[in-house]
Amino acid sequence: MTTPSSTLRGSDAGQRVTCIACGETLDRGDAREYDKHGDRWDREGKQFEYLCKPCHRECCHRNREGLEEALVAAGAGRTDRKTFLERFCEVSTDDETID
Ligand SMILES: [Zn+2]
Repeated sequence: MTTPSSTLRGSDAGQRVTCIACGETLDRGDAREYDKHGDRWDREGKQFEYLCKPCHRECCHRNREGLEEALVAAGAGRTDRKTFLERFCEVSTDDETID
């Protein structure tokens, strides 16, 4: 009898994704899927965004109100990352001044 000494990871193992918030590259298995449109059940032909755990936690702490709109307004998935992050920072900063 052999005792399994290691657990095989799923087929996602080894796939690398990029956090949309900080640009960190991480294992897809460690990332949190983020769908900027919010309708995560409609997966057909979609590309999901990913957040690393720290950023995901931050997202949960901050007021989610308008986050989807902010991401879409910032051009998530439609512009290059640099432009998106610049725009997203602007939108986010606007948000915080309301508080
Ligand atoms: Zn991140």
